[in-house]
Amino acid sequence: MLKELLDQFYLDRDRDREQHHFYITDAGKCSRAIFFKFKNVPREKMEPRVLRMFDHGDYIQMQILNNLFSLGIVRASEVKIPPQELISGRADAIITLNNELYVVDFKSMNSMVFKNLTEPKKDNINQIQLYLHYFKIPKGILLYVNKDTLELKEFLIEHDPAIAQKLLKDLTDLKTKIDSNVVPQRIPGWPEEWQCQYCQFKEICQMAGEKEISWLEFRKKVDEAEASSSPSLPSEAR
Ligand code: SF4
Repeated sequence: MLKELLDQFYLDRDRDREQHHFYITDAGKCSRAIFFKFKNVPREKMEPRVLRMFDHGDYIQMQILNNLFSLGIVRASEVKIPPQELISGRADAIITLNNELYVVDFKSMNSMVFKNLTEPKKDNINQIQLYLHYFKIPKGILLYVNKDTLELKEFLIEHDPAIAQKLLKDLTDLKTKIDSNVVPQRIPGWPEEWQCQYCQFKEICQMAGEKEISWLEFRKKVDEAEASSSPSLPSEAR
């Protein structure tokens, strides 16, 4: 009945989408997983329950943004970074506090993760560093919200040009690999690393082994494995 309809709604919305450019959220993440997204490799499906939780987090963040608007401190919301070829992204808000500009990024999480959060998460710092770089604003705030209790924690982040430059260099290097069909090596810490635990490409990553390999060669193995188990990979990925 309704449950099936709602689950299907989320599954349809979450269909595999080929990625053509980098998003700010890719910064500092596993290069191999991003490579597979660009090549439109089929990924494990997320459960509708998890997808609903993402939506729930977005609603809570919208509520907080409305509160900031009511305080009269928001200068802009959903602010896109200046257009350029490498990467796209949208900061949640730019605010003024005591006559200083800050980029604000909201993050929502469950009670368990929130309780143990004593410092900002590295991938969130990477993201906000790129916003600070592109907006040329020296300070940012990572605002974490507990989805279960609506408690807040915040961390001030100062612009560190070295971090932003390193992230942009890594993405430029990855773009070269994508264009020349070289599958990047696994991240150190595979398979225990948290990114691997939540990765939708776990199986195909295991098949690829540890080192860099040719995508065109590996693609044949993937096709053979797919042909013997399930429908073939989409032709766009070839
Ligand atoms: S399993 Fe880990 S190393 Fe492999 S693609 Fe996913 S995140 Fe990267």
